[in-house]
Amino acid sequence: MTTIQRIAGRLSDIGEGMTVLRALPTRQRRMVGAWCFLDHLGPLQFAPGQGMHVGAHPHTALQTFTWLIEGEVLHRDSLGSEQIIRPGQVNLMTAGHGVVHTEDSTADGQRLHAAQLWIALPPAAADCPPAFEHFPELPRWEQDGCVITLLAGSFAGRTMPACFHTPLVGLDIHSPAGARCTLPLDPGFEYGILLLEGAMRLGDERFVVDEFAWLGSGADSLALDLAAGSRLLLLGGEPFGEPVLMWWNFVGHDRPAIIAAQRDWEAGSPRFGPVAGSNRRLIAPPLPWSEAERRVEG
Ligand code: MN
Repeated sequence: MTTIQRIAGRLSDIGEGMTVLRALPTRQRRMVGAWCFLDHLGPLQFAPGQGMHVGAHPHTALQTFTWLIEGEVLHRDSLGSEQIIRPGQVNLMTAGHGVVHTEDSTADGQRLHAAQLWIALPPAAADCPPAFEHFPELPRWEQDGCVITLLAGSFAGRTMPACFHTPLVGLDIHSPAGARCTLPLDPGFEYGILLLEGAMRLGDERFVVDEFAWLGSGADSLALDLAAGSRLLLLGGEPFGEPVLMWWNFVGHDRPAIIAAQRDWEAGSPRFGPVAGSNRRLIAPPLPWSEAERRVEG
């Protein structure tokens, strides 16, 4: 393993009175392979009458990836999907040209622990038709005192059967009693780890919850020392060869793509259809570029 970079996640207000830990992007690291966004939600216990209720909002040129550890969340989208996600399950929504969705706790006052990730689509797939898939069961096995769940891609002869557009992998590693675990890595992938619970040691370095460890590429194995009760996400992928712009809920490969998406959302374009059962639409903040730039580029 080359030098490990320690990156502190930052607290981010996602509205609705919820604060999450954002591990990607940060000033130090914007992506791990195509993984371009990583929020750690909870674990938390909502007060009675409270829950997560995210109104209708659009996405473009990315896949949203939800990994649920505790709680129960209802996903609805402009494709007509209506899906409850439960612990141990993944929701994967491909935004492509454009999609709108809502996320709601199924009952207020319950627990929530989840990771919300985005996967950037490469230029050839950025404008693809939107799609939604639910994965109720994932490959899961025990190794060296760890319970490993394959969230995305292929690992150690197993494959998670979703369609991704660049080579990548995602694992959840949980060690109820503590463990030393050695995993094979692909030297062509770059990797990062976010500790979700507990504590871990990588070589001489100790990491605690919500610290992100950037591992880079070139290694063919990884040795983890996990304290009892630890859980982490291991993300990897081929380095993403294209610049990626992110603004609000949009990903794009250039400013005109983002500007067009924002205009279409604000104009109520059919590109971003309604979500049945939702009458609350989130408002996009003003674009970060000057009006003159927008006139030239839009
Ligand atoms: Mn979303």
